[in-house]
Amino acid sequence: MNDLLPPAGQAFADLEESGTFDLAVIGAGPAGMAAAATAAEQGLHVALIDAGRQLGGQYFRHPAPGLTADWLPKLYHGWQQFEQLVTRVETAAGIEVRFGHQVWAIEKFGAVDRSEDVPGFRVLTDRGPIEAPAVILATGAYERVVPFPGWDLPGVFTAGGAQALLKGNLVLPGRRVVVAGTGPLLLPVAAGLAAAGAKVLGLYEANTIRGYAKNPLPLLSNPTKLAEGLDYARQFTRARIPVHTGRMVIEAHGTDTLEAVVTARPDGTDPQRIPCDTLAIGYGLAPQIDLALTLGAAPTHLTDGTIGLRVNTTQRTTIPGLYAAGETAGVAGAETALLEGEIAGLAVAQVAARAWARRLASRTAGGGVAPGTDSSARAVSDESSGVAGPAGPAGTGTGRTSGGSPSRTTEDKPAGPITARAIAAARARVSRRTPEDAAEAADSTNRLAAARARLTRRAPDDGADAAGSTNRLAAARARLTRRPEPSAATPPSPPPLSLASPSAEATAAATTPATLTTPASPAVPTTPANLANLLRRRTRQRALADLLRARHPIPAAWREHLADDTIVCRCEEVPAKAIAEATGDLGAGDARTVKLLTRAGMGWCQGRVCGYAVACLAGGTEPASDADLLAAASRPLARPVPLGVLAEQDRRNK
Ligand SMILES: Cc1cc2nc3c(=O)[nH]c(=O)nc-3n(C[C@H](O)[C@H](O)[C@H](O)COP(=O)(O)OP(=O)(O)OC[C@H]3O[C@@H](n4cnc5c(N)ncnc54)[C@H](O)[C@@H]3O)c2cc1C
Repeated sequence: MNDLLPPAGQAFADLEESGTFDLAVIGAGPAGMAAAATAAEQGLHVALIDAGRQLGGQYFRHPAPGLTADWLPKLYHGWQQFEQLVTRVETAAGIEVRFGHQVWAIEKFGAVDRSEDVPGFRVLTDRGPIEAPAVILATGAYERVVPFPGWDLPGVFTAGGAQALLKGNLVLPGRRVVVAGTGPLLLPVAAGLAAAGAKVLGLYEANTIRGYAKNPLPLLSNPTKLAEGLDYARQFTRARIPVHTGRMVIEAHGTDTLEAVVTARPDGTDPQRIPCDTLAIGYGLAPQIDLALTLGAAPTHLTDGTIGLRVNTTQRTTIPGLYAAGETAGVAGAETALLEGEIAGLAVAQVAARAWARRLASRTAGGGVAPGTDSSARAVSDESSGVAGPAGPAGTGTGRTSGGSPSRTTEDKPAGPITARAIAAARARVSRRTPEDAAEAADSTNRLAAARARLTRRAPDDGADAAGSTNRLAAARARLTRRPEPSAATPPSPPPLSLASPSAEATAAATTPATLTTPASPAVPTTPANLANLLRRRTRQRALADLLRARHPIPAAWREHLADDTIVCRCEEVPAKAIAEATGDLGAGDARTVKLLTRAGMGWCQGRVCGYAVACLAGGTEPASDADLLAAASRPLARPVPLGVLAEQDRRNK
């Protein structure tokens, strides 16, 4: 066995990839980009890690440079916002972008900075570990589907899969398409397919939309989303896409490939056969949170049977130092992801600023953290910062929630917003100066300059000049630790972002209402001063996400349409009959036992595709029990990883 493994150190042979940072952000979608840019603008040294090769995540997925189509701009809302965000990521000094890095686990360890004994995280990637005292998990979501007879025929796609072909490869999955399932994702998928030239024969939404009229407030208080909805309505009218509600696909027919689907009411009545060559089907999204669950972060069970991470008002999970932004805190869309990235980025910067203030004070006092200093810094979080301090509570426990912002707890409510003044006050306490003096130094463009300047016994402005806007914390860090300053990071240039020829861009500008393009302006660096505004907007958007979740559950009747030979787990080819035998004859009563008996969920996707269905079938309830859903969402290894990488990690840990 050992002969098969590379010699010690060889598995990470190309290891410029490891490193130590102030913050590791996992996921370069809207949430991760916003988090990394915000934290770096506040002076942190940030690793932005993504398995993919480009910035943007799912929402801003775009084709490789050189590929273009005149319809492509029609697939995006807020592209301008993305371009601004890319500029921020590119220009913020201190961000190192690590593309092509699969994060397979995170572990806690004693000290990220051995000279100072700061506890931290080791982010394990297939190209080496990355260490940081704080991690923001922005790994997005994956699609939820349920099986039905014929769903494994060529021509049947997940809704997001069909969209990914379009956005990433400019490829149409077929010509005559049915879009079905439930939830808002179906709208851009149908509109995008039509814009790219497919004939969309119909959108079949399994739920009705009557509930929106009963509770219109969340929609009305999110005008951007309302405008997006109206824009889709216009596009559907133009492309003549009929929308049917209260109907679902119960069968797909075909010999070698898809030839038709049967739609019906969820109870199977009123069946209609629709000839088509493509089905794009999706039943919503589930947060991708396995990395945090393995670390022990508390989940929150949402009403639609998905599980998000329980976070406090600053996006911190129940594990100090571990934050979740965007879909990982419950699916809520790209706009919320952007906001939450900014909030989490600010929160981490604030905690870092306090840590540096403490270290500064201990240094001034001649070594060791003075007890009074620590409590002074902690007082910021109690009084005004809104950030639970490094040891502060983030709320514990789980529970299915039914309303409000599901993953947030009232006990986490901050005493007030994070403000530059609050930092200044903390700094002033630490340095025994008045808050007013310190506030002057802590201007919004360079908050740590004052601390840095004191460290070097120079005036705050000198300190700011010396460090410049390109390397804010590095100078202080290097002086404190007496190590050479890391050179200013040079993030790799992302691919050119022009989506299309100038004419296509002009088309986009003409077809996209102004209200849709810039709901928030990430071009403007987020500062503690506008945190209150961010929090207010997040509350509004989370309320809408709650409403959407409640209005678009998977209809429980999906199970009644299964045939014995319907494949449930596609990786391991486990049919419904095998699961019925496990739960019937063999007496399995939970998802884990069904998995052990049938191998359902043991394949390449580790239950991402079949996990929800197996959990429901195992327990016989809809949605499945919290325990079964949690079992389906947990994966000790979040990504497949070569044995050599595991062995190398083992050697490093010894
Ligand atoms: C298939 C799909 C299609 C969607 N289409 C739309 C749409 O058309 N319109 C819409 O409004 N919303 C859409 N959404 C929802 C939308 O993606 C989100 O609202 C938004 O992108 C969330 O941003 P995020 O930053 O939280 O996550 P994402 O944008 O999903 O970004 C997550 C990033 O994390 C990376 N990542 C995940 N796990 C790892 C790991 N272990 N190691 C390294 N990197 C990792 C991924 O590569 C990805 O780049 C879609 C979602 C999905 C899953």
